[in-house]
Amino acid sequence: MALLSRANTRRMLAKLAEAYPDAKCALNFRNPFELLIATMLSAQCTDERVNMVTQSLFAKYPRPEDYAALTPEILQKDIKQLGLFRTKSENIIATCKLLLEKYHGQVPTSRDDLVDLPGVGRKTANVVLSNAFGMPALAVDTHVKRVANRIGLANSMNPETVEAEVCSRIPEELWSPAHHWLIHHGRRVCSARSPKCEQCLVSEFCQYYKRLQKETKLQKKVLESEKTVKEKHKSRSSDKTTSTANAAKSSN
Ligand code: SF4
Repeated sequence: MALLSRANTRRMLAKLAEAYPDAKCALNFRNPFELLIATMLSAQCTDERVNMVTQSLFAKYPRPEDYAALTPEILQKDIKQLGLFRTKSENIIATCKLLLEKYHGQVPTSRDDLVDLPGVGRKTANVVLSNAFGMPALAVDTHVKRVANRIGLANSMNPETVEAEVCSRIPEELWSPAHHWLIHHGRRVCSARSPKCEQCLVSEFCQYYKRLQKETKLQKKVLESEKTVKEKHKSRSSDKTTSTANAAKSSN
């Protein structure tokens, strides 16, 4: 699939920026540590559900020391409304222990250090870097991956490749906002199952939409030619019936 030109990428992003001026991280947090925990909890869960859980969780356990002192079984009780809660409990406790051992209880500001923490992948690291520390980073979640591929900002199902392809096409200062715009667009318009292409403000740039239009045109052509063949066949049969009837009449 052809990728969007840089000029069209800029125009397309300008439209998304206009449509979603308030796009920002949907997870609630007051500091980098809370964002790290909230993002770790958000795997395979909605942000709304995570916010419901963290409201009481952060009041009960505000510091890494609090989690490091827990057993996974105790933490599981606080986060059991979320998917993968057993694994998440273990990872959060192990991460907090490591934060205390290696970083004086602070969240590191380097991607390499972040991804060394248990349960922290590149996506979580990028969310923390961009939203907690204001550093240029583009986290690729399921929405970003889908929308970027459909529009033509990327051509890969591998999140790291998507990140590299999108980042290489837009200026650094747009990496973080582009992440939010693409997520908002994916949630509100370009959903996985039924994208609302007819209402989409970036359809003029979208490669998926162009392909869809081409296919629809082709289908229409096929249907029209099938209809013509049928009509011709029908008219030939009716000619044949008339001439048979005429022949019968004249022989009488
Ligand atoms: S035109 Fe359709 S597929 Fe393309 S971005 Fe818009 S909603 Fe998504």
